[in-house]
Amino acid sequence: MFTSISGQTAIVTGASRGIGRGIAIRFGSVGCNVLVISRSIEGAERVVSEIKAAGGSASAAAIDVSDPDQSPRMAEVAIERYGAINILCANAGIFPASKLDKMTALEFDAVMGANLRGTFLTVQACLPEMKARRKGRIVLTSSITGPITGYPGWAHYGASKAGQLGFMRTAAIELAPSHITMNAVMPGNIATEGLADLGPEYAAKMEGSIPMGRLGTVVDIANAALFFASEEAAYITGQTLIIDGGQVLPESLMALEEMNAS
Ligand code: NAP
Repeated sequence: MFTSISGQTAIVTGASRGIGRGIAIRFGSVGCNVLVISRSIEGAERVVSEIKAAGGSASAAAIDVSDPDQSPRMAEVAIERYGAINILCANAGIFPASKLDKMTALEFDAVMGANLRGTFLTVQACLPEMKARRKGRIVLTSSITGPITGYPGWAHYGASKAGQLGFMRTAAIELAPSHITMNAVMPGNIATEGLADLGPEYAAKMEGSIPMGRLGTVVDIANAALFFASEEAAYITGQTLIIDGGQVLPESLMALEEMNAS
Protein backbone atom coordinates (compact mmCIF):
# COMPACT_ATOMS: atom_id res chain seq x y z
CA MET A 1 0.00 0.00 0.00
CA PHE A 2 2.81 2.43 0.91
CA THR A 3 5.93 3.31 -1.04
CA SER A 4 8.77 1.21 0.34
CA ILE A 5 11.11 2.84 2.85
CA SER A 6 13.45 -0.13 2.72
CA GLY A 7 17.11 0.92 2.96
CA GLN A 8 16.35 4.11 4.87
CA THR A 9 18.00 4.72 8.24
CA ALA A 10 15.83 5.14 11.32
CA ILE A 11 17.08 6.20 14.74
CA VAL A 12 14.78 5.10 17.57
CA THR A 13 15.48 6.37 21.09
CA GLY A 14 14.30 4.54 24.19
CA ALA A 15 14.25 1.40 22.11
CA SER A 16 15.62 -1.22 24.52
CA ARG A 17 12.08 -2.05 25.60
CA GLY A 18 8.44 -0.97 25.44
CA ILE A 19 7.11 1.27 22.69
CA GLY A 20 10.58 2.09 21.35
CA ARG A 21 11.36 -1.62 20.97
CA GLY A 22 8.08 -2.05 19.10
CA ILE A 23 8.89 0.85 16.77
CA ALA A 24 12.44 -0.42 16.17
CA ILE A 25 11.22 -3.93 15.31
CA ARG A 26 8.49 -2.54 13.02
CA PHE A 27 10.94 -0.33 11.11
CA GLY A 28 13.36 -3.27 10.91
CA SER A 29 10.57 -5.39 9.43
CA VAL A 30 10.14 -2.98 6.50
CA GLY A 31 13.85 -3.01 5.65
CA CYS A 32 15.15 0.08 7.47
CA ASN A 33 18.59 0.17 9.07
CA VAL A 34 17.62 0.76 12.68
CA LEU A 35 19.86 2.45 15.23
CA VAL A 36 18.57 1.30 18.62
CA ILE A 37 19.31 3.82 21.38
CA SER A 38 18.97 3.52 25.15
CA ARG A 39 21.17 4.20 28.16
CA SER A 40 21.81 0.49 28.67
CA ILE A 41 23.73 -1.19 25.86
CA GLU A 42 22.61 -4.68 26.93
CA GLY A 43 18.92 -3.90 26.41
CA ALA A 44 19.58 -2.20 23.09
CA GLU A 45 21.69 -5.15 21.91
CA ARG A 46 18.86 -7.56 22.75
CA VAL A 47 16.51 -5.63 20.46
CA VAL A 48 19.17 -5.57 17.73
CA SER A 49 19.37 -9.37 17.99
CA GLU A 50 15.59 -9.63 17.64
CA ILE A 51 15.62 -7.44 14.52
CA LYS A 52 18.51 -9.39 13.00
CA ALA A 53 16.89 -12.73 13.83
CA ALA A 54 13.88 -11.59 11.79
CA GLY A 55 16.18 -10.78 8.84
CA GLY A 56 16.51 -7.03 9.48
CA SER A 57 19.43 -4.63 9.83
CA ALA A 58 20.15 -2.93 13.16
CA SER A 59 22.83 -1.85 15.58
CA ALA A 60 22.91 -0.37 19.06
CA ALA A 61 24.38 2.63 20.86
CA ALA A 62 24.24 3.55 24.55
CA ILE A 63 23.29 7.22 24.77
CA ASP A 64 21.50 9.25 27.43
CA VAL A 65 19.27 11.56 25.38
CA SER A 66 19.07 14.13 28.16
CA ASP A 67 22.83 14.70 28.18
CA PRO A 68 24.06 17.30 25.65
CA ASP A 69 27.54 15.74 25.80
CA GLN A 70 26.11 12.40 24.62
CA SER A 71 23.17 13.22 22.34
CA PRO A 72 25.17 14.38 19.26
CA ARG A 73 26.75 10.92 19.14
CA MET A 74 23.53 9.30 17.89
CA ALA A 75 23.80 11.25 14.63
CA GLU A 76 27.54 10.62 14.32
CA VAL A 77 27.04 6.87 14.82
CA ALA A 78 24.13 6.68 12.34
CA ILE A 79 26.14 8.50 9.66
CA GLU A 80 29.29 6.44 10.32
CA ARG A 81 27.41 3.14 10.12
CA TYR A 82 24.70 3.88 7.52
CA GLY A 83 25.62 7.15 5.82
CA ALA A 84 22.28 8.85 6.48
CA ILE A 85 19.49 9.72 8.91
CA ASN A 86 16.13 9.57 7.17
CA ILE A 87 13.81 8.92 10.11
CA LEU A 88 14.04 9.87 13.76
CA CYS A 89 11.69 8.50 16.40
CA ALA A 90 12.27 10.49 19.59
CA ASN A 91 10.58 8.11 21.97
CA ALA A 92 12.73 7.86 25.12
CA GLY A 93 10.83 8.85 28.22
CA ILE A 94 10.26 8.14 31.89
CA PHE A 95 7.13 8.34 34.02
CA PRO A 96 7.89 8.07 37.75
CA ALA A 97 4.87 9.10 39.84
CA SER A 98 5.12 11.81 42.49
CA LYS A 99 2.25 13.78 44.04
CA LEU A 100 2.60 17.56 44.02
CA ASP A 101 2.95 18.05 47.77
CA LYS A 102 5.96 15.69 47.84
CA MET A 103 7.45 16.34 44.37
CA THR A 104 11.01 17.66 44.55
CA ALA A 105 12.67 20.00 42.09
CA LEU A 106 15.11 17.18 41.29
CA GLU A 107 12.24 14.81 40.39
CA PHE A 108 10.64 17.51 38.25
CA ASP A 109 13.93 18.21 36.47
CA ALA A 110 14.63 14.51 35.89
CA VAL A 111 11.31 14.03 34.08
CA MET A 112 11.69 17.25 32.10
CA GLY A 113 15.31 16.32 31.32
CA ALA A 114 14.53 12.90 29.87
CA ASN A 115 11.22 13.72 28.20
CA LEU A 116 11.41 17.34 27.04
CA ARG A 117 15.08 18.33 26.99
CA GLY A 118 15.79 14.84 25.64
CA THR A 119 13.36 15.45 22.77
CA PHE A 120 15.00 18.79 21.96
CA LEU A 121 18.55 17.40 22.09
CA THR A 122 17.62 14.33 20.04
CA VAL A 123 16.00 16.40 17.32
CA GLN A 124 18.83 18.96 17.31
CA ALA A 125 21.45 16.21 16.96
CA CYS A 126 19.86 14.90 13.75
CA LEU A 127 19.03 18.20 12.07
CA PRO A 128 22.31 18.96 10.27
CA GLU A 129 22.15 15.65 8.37
CA MET A 130 18.44 15.95 7.56
CA LYS A 131 18.82 19.59 6.50
CA ALA A 132 21.77 18.78 4.25
CA ARG A 133 19.66 16.08 2.63
CA ARG A 134 16.63 18.45 2.49
CA LYS A 135 14.38 15.67 3.69
CA GLY A 136 13.49 13.94 6.93
CA ARG A 137 10.76 12.45 9.07
CA ILE A 138 10.65 13.06 12.82
CA VAL A 139 8.11 11.28 15.01
CA LEU A 140 7.80 12.21 18.69
CA THR A 141 6.19 9.97 21.29
CA SER A 142 4.00 12.24 23.40
CA SER A 143 1.00 10.93 25.38
CA ILE A 144 -2.66 11.58 26.07
CA THR A 145 -1.48 12.42 29.63
CA GLY A 146 -0.72 16.13 29.65
CA PRO A 147 -2.03 17.31 26.29
CA ILE A 148 -5.55 15.90 26.93
CA THR A 149 -5.87 14.15 30.29
CA GLY A 150 -4.39 14.25 33.78
CA TYR A 151 -3.51 11.61 36.35
CA PRO A 152 -2.53 12.19 40.00
CA GLY A 153 1.24 11.87 40.41
CA TRP A 154 2.05 12.89 36.88
CA ALA A 155 1.98 16.69 36.92
CA HIS A 156 5.64 16.81 35.84
CA TYR A 157 5.15 14.05 33.30
CA GLY A 158 2.01 15.68 31.87
CA ALA A 159 3.84 18.99 31.57
CA SER A 160 6.69 17.30 29.70
CA LYS A 161 4.34 15.52 27.28
CA ALA A 162 2.32 18.68 26.59
CA GLY A 163 5.63 20.53 26.25
CA GLN A 164 6.71 18.18 23.49
CA LEU A 165 3.72 19.32 21.43
CA GLY A 166 4.51 22.99 21.97
CA PHE A 167 8.08 22.29 20.93
CA MET A 168 6.85 20.42 17.86
CA ARG A 169 4.54 23.15 16.57
CA THR A 170 7.29 25.73 16.29
CA ALA A 171 9.97 23.24 15.21
CA ALA A 172 7.70 21.95 12.43
CA ILE A 173 7.44 25.48 11.00
CA GLU A 174 11.20 26.00 11.22
CA LEU A 175 11.85 22.69 9.45
CA ALA A 176 9.15 22.82 6.77
CA PRO A 177 11.35 24.69 4.23
CA SER A 178 13.84 21.80 4.50
CA HIS A 179 11.06 19.27 3.78
CA ILE A 180 11.49 17.78 7.25
CA THR A 181 8.21 16.83 8.90
CA MET A 182 7.63 16.50 12.63
CA ASN A 183 4.55 14.80 14.04
CA ALA A 184 3.63 13.15 17.32
CA VAL A 185 1.95 9.94 18.34
CA MET A 186 -0.12 10.22 21.50
CA PRO A 187 -0.45 6.77 23.07
CA GLY A 188 -3.10 5.94 25.63
CA ASN A 189 -2.22 3.09 27.98
CA ILE A 190 0.11 0.69 26.20
CA ALA A 191 1.27 -2.66 27.58
CA THR A 192 5.00 -2.05 28.10
CA GLU A 193 7.57 -2.94 30.72
CA GLY A 194 7.33 0.64 32.00
CA LEU A 195 3.56 0.32 32.43
CA ALA A 196 4.00 -3.09 34.08
CA ASP A 197 6.24 -1.36 36.64
CA LEU A 198 3.11 0.53 37.81
CA GLY A 199 1.68 -2.79 39.05
CA PRO A 200 -1.00 -5.24 37.83
CA GLU A 201 -3.81 -3.32 39.55
CA TYR A 202 -3.09 -0.21 37.45
CA ALA A 203 -3.29 -2.15 34.18
CA ALA A 204 -6.42 -4.08 35.17
CA LYS A 205 -8.32 -0.98 36.29
CA MET A 206 -7.16 1.01 33.29
CA GLU A 207 -8.54 -1.62 30.92
CA GLY A 208 -11.96 -0.96 32.42
CA SER A 209 -11.82 2.68 31.35
CA ILE A 210 -10.89 1.97 27.73
CA PRO A 211 -13.91 1.55 25.42
CA MET A 212 -12.07 -1.09 23.37
CA GLY A 213 -11.54 -3.02 26.61
CA ARG A 214 -7.82 -3.63 26.30
CA LEU A 215 -4.51 -1.88 26.71
CA GLY A 216 -2.80 -0.90 23.47
CA THR A 217 0.13 -2.87 22.11
CA VAL A 218 3.50 -1.50 21.07
CA VAL A 219 2.60 -2.55 17.53
CA ASP A 220 -0.45 -0.24 17.62
CA ILE A 221 1.92 2.69 18.25
CA ALA A 222 4.62 1.46 15.86
CA ASN A 223 2.11 1.34 12.98
CA ALA A 224 1.19 5.00 13.57
CA ALA A 225 4.88 5.97 13.72
CA LEU A 226 5.43 4.09 10.46
CA PHE A 227 2.64 6.06 8.81
CA PHE A 228 4.14 9.41 9.85
CA ALA A 229 7.52 8.19 8.52
CA SER A 230 6.11 7.08 5.19
CA GLU A 231 6.55 8.87 1.87
CA GLU A 232 2.78 9.22 1.73
CA ALA A 233 2.77 11.42 4.88
CA ALA A 234 5.03 14.02 3.20
CA TYR A 235 2.45 16.84 3.47
CA ILE A 236 1.58 16.24 7.16
CA THR A 237 3.55 18.19 9.73
CA GLY A 238 3.04 19.48 13.26
CA GLN A 239 0.13 17.08 13.81
CA THR A 240 -0.83 14.53 16.43
CA LEU A 241 -2.47 11.13 16.33
CA ILE A 242 -4.13 9.65 19.41
CA ILE A 243 -3.87 5.87 19.63
CA ASP A 244 -5.80 4.92 22.75
CA GLY A 245 -8.66 2.51 21.99
CA GLY A 246 -11.09 5.38 22.56
CA GLN A 247 -9.88 6.12 26.09
CA VAL A 248 -10.32 9.91 25.88
CA LEU A 249 -13.85 9.68 24.42
CA PRO A 250 -16.23 8.93 27.33
CA GLU A 251 -17.39 12.21 28.85
CA SER A 252 -18.04 10.50 32.20
CA LEU A 253 -18.07 7.18 34.02
CA MET A 254 -21.77 7.06 33.12
CA ALA A 255 -20.89 6.93 29.43
CA LEU A 256 -18.82 3.80 30.04
CA GLU A 257 -21.58 2.25 32.18
CA GLU A 258 -24.10 3.00 29.45
CA MET A 259 -21.76 1.44 26.87
CA ASN A 260 -21.36 -1.69 28.99
CA ALA A 261 -25.13 -1.94 29.53
CA SER A 262 -25.93 -1.91 25.82
P1 NAP B 1 9.58 1.89 29.09
O1 NAP B 1 9.01 0.54 28.86
O2 NAP B 1 9.93 2.30 30.48
O3 NAP B 1 10.86 2.10 28.14
C1 NAP B 1 11.54 3.32 28.18
C2 NAP B 1 12.71 3.27 27.24
O4 NAP B 1 13.37 4.55 27.25
C3 NAP B 1 13.76 2.25 27.64
O5 NAP B 1 14.33 1.72 26.46
C4 NAP B 1 14.79 3.07 28.40
O6 NAP B 1 16.03 2.39 28.36
C5 NAP B 1 14.77 4.36 27.57
N1 NAP B 1 15.20 5.57 28.24
C6 NAP B 1 14.71 6.14 29.36
N2 NAP B 1 15.38 7.27 29.65
C7 NAP B 1 16.31 7.43 28.67
C8 NAP B 1 17.30 8.41 28.41
N3 NAP B 1 17.49 9.46 29.22
N4 NAP B 1 18.09 8.26 27.31
C9 NAP B 1 17.92 7.21 26.48
N5 NAP B 1 16.98 6.26 26.68
C10 NAP B 1 16.19 6.37 27.77
O7 NAP B 1 8.58 3.03 28.56
P2 NAP B 1 7.37 2.96 27.50
O8 NAP B 1 6.13 2.65 28.26
O9 NAP B 1 7.75 2.14 26.34
O10 NAP B 1 7.30 4.50 27.08
C11 NAP B 1 8.05 4.97 25.99
C12 NAP B 1 7.57 6.34 25.60
O11 NAP B 1 6.17 6.29 25.37
C13 NAP B 1 7.80 7.40 26.67
O12 NAP B 1 8.13 8.63 26.06
C14 NAP B 1 6.44 7.51 27.34
O13 NAP B 1 6.22 8.77 27.89
C15 NAP B 1 5.53 7.27 26.16
N6 NAP B 1 4.20 6.78 26.53
C16 NAP B 1 4.03 5.55 27.08
C17 NAP B 1 2.74 5.11 27.40
C18 NAP B 1 2.45 3.75 27.95
O14 NAP B 1 1.29 3.47 28.26
N7 NAP B 1 3.40 2.86 28.07
C19 NAP B 1 1.64 5.97 27.18
C20 NAP B 1 1.86 7.23 26.65
C21 NAP B 1 3.15 7.63 26.31
P3 NAP B 1 17.22 2.69 29.43
O15 NAP B 1 16.57 2.70 30.78
O16 NAP B 1 18.21 1.61 29.21
O17 NAP B 1 17.75 4.03 29.04
